[in-house]
Amino acid sequence: MGRQILLEHINVPGINTFDVYRKHGGYASVEKALKTMTPDEVTEEVKKSGLRGRGGAGFPAGMKWSFLDRKSEKPRYLVCNADESEPGTFKDRYLMEKIPHVLIEGMITSSYALGAKTSYIYVRGEYMYVIRILEQAIQEAYAKGFLGKNILGTDYSLDLYVQPGGGAYICGEETALLESLEGKRGNPRLKPPFPAVAGLYASPTVVNNVETIAAVCSIVNLGGDEYAKIGIGKSTGTKLISASGHINKPGVYEIELGLPVEEFIYSDQYCGGIWKGRKMKAVVAGGSSVPILPTELILKTAKGEPRLMTYESLSDGGFVSGTMLGSGGFIVMDETSCIVRNLWTFTRFYHHESCGQCSPCREGTGWMEKVLHRIEHGHGHEGDIDLLVDVAKKIEGNTICPLGDAAAWPVASAIRHFREEFEYHVRYPEKVKNPKHFELEP
Ligand code: NAD
Ligand code: SF4
Repeated sequence: MGRQILLEHINVPGINTFDVYRKHGGYASVEKALKTMTPDEVTEEVKKSGLRGRGGAGFPAGMKWSFLDRKSEKPRYLVCNADESEPGTFKDRYLMEKIPHVLIEGMITSSYALGAKTSYIYVRGEYMYVIRILEQAIQEAYAKGFLGKNILGTDYSLDLYVQPGGGAYICGEETALLESLEGKRGNPRLKPPFPAVAGLYASPTVVNNVETIAAVCSIVNLGGDEYAKIGIGKSTGTKLISASGHINKPGVYEIELGLPVEEFIYSDQYCGGIWKGRKMKAVVAGGSSVPILPTELILKTAKGEPRLMTYESLSDGGFVSGTMLGSGGFIVMDETSCIVRNLWTFTRFYHHESCGQCSPCREGTGWMEKVLHRIEHGHGHEGDIDLLVDVAKKIEGNTICPLGDAAAWPVASAIRHFREEFEYHVRYPEKVKNPKHFELEP
């Protein structure tokens, strides 16, 4: 197993309790930051560490913190985005359930750096039992003097609240989350202004993912420069990966960024290879909001080099810009998987979760779902495949929030890489009407 930072003590009995967590070095970053560092020094360490947002966008965390409007007279807030809802993504739930104090510790240290006196953890509503675990951990931290007034005898005070989410995927989009936290319908806002300038109650706000905030503890403990030595290039540190699908060992793994994808899939330390001795067909590497990549592209780059688990390397051969590591939801499909069926499932999800504010997303996801449904069920028309590509193109880049792009990318990439499978569905409707058709070789 590679370097373990977040999950180092995961198997220690009672690590979910304050005392055991503290015995294993817990809350050291709070002591170090509050007693020996200024808020700006903590921010500087996070910048030096090269930590990138672990929720999906991979935006440099230190840069986001430095955008916070510190001149504003309004209160500043830190909001933890624990509304984990990306299909195939369950690593934040695992972390919060098993080691809740690492998040509480990260929240205190980060809130101190940002000058926040009140902070929130917005947790996906369906994770109700996790909410209880976090509330218990927060109570313990208050009782031990790590939350509340004059933490550890310093002049820094912080109140921390857990807020259950609104039950919609879109509430994980940061501005929709803020709307929901304010008690409104979770509709995304237009950006700019970014939350760093006008976020919660129009005040300067940083919204960070659970894993990002948890990573701040080790950054403060190790120092930003030391943390930056872990990983590779601009993908520093470790990353939690939720591995699911047709693999022998699904679960949550902590990897050092830069691990070859092939090693992650086939090594016994991680996924343990494809189940039932089958071959791999495709992978969605970062939750469902990224392209579906065929085996040859996921294992090797266009230049024939091993593909690495990094923010830079997991791209669609230049087709889609940005990071495809996403939330680290690694969904593996074996050779019997029907790409059309999988895509229809993804698209149905996006159509259902679209907030409906902008027409390209509201109407486009509906059209894509309808067309994919008929192709998958043996009623596809000649021209349907090009129609799908056209609708996906019209959504991409034309919506208020990234949900539109997230719905368009898997469609465009699946057709790009598996077009013959779509053509087979349209050409041989009788064969695909067989409910088991997805187990046939196309
Ligand atoms: P984004 O790229 O728009 O923003 C990244 C972050 O940087 C945001 O916090 C934004 O406010 C900040 N930012 C960017 N430019 C800024 C500027 N000039 N000034 C101040 N702040 C700035 O992406 P996003 O909407 O945060 O996230 C999209 C990603 O979320 C998708 O790629 C998807 O992978 C992921 N996602 C994850 C989940 C999950 O459950 N983990 C669910 C849905 C989507
Ligand atoms: Fe709502 Fe979709 Fe527009 Fe996002 S892209 S604001 S989810 S309609």
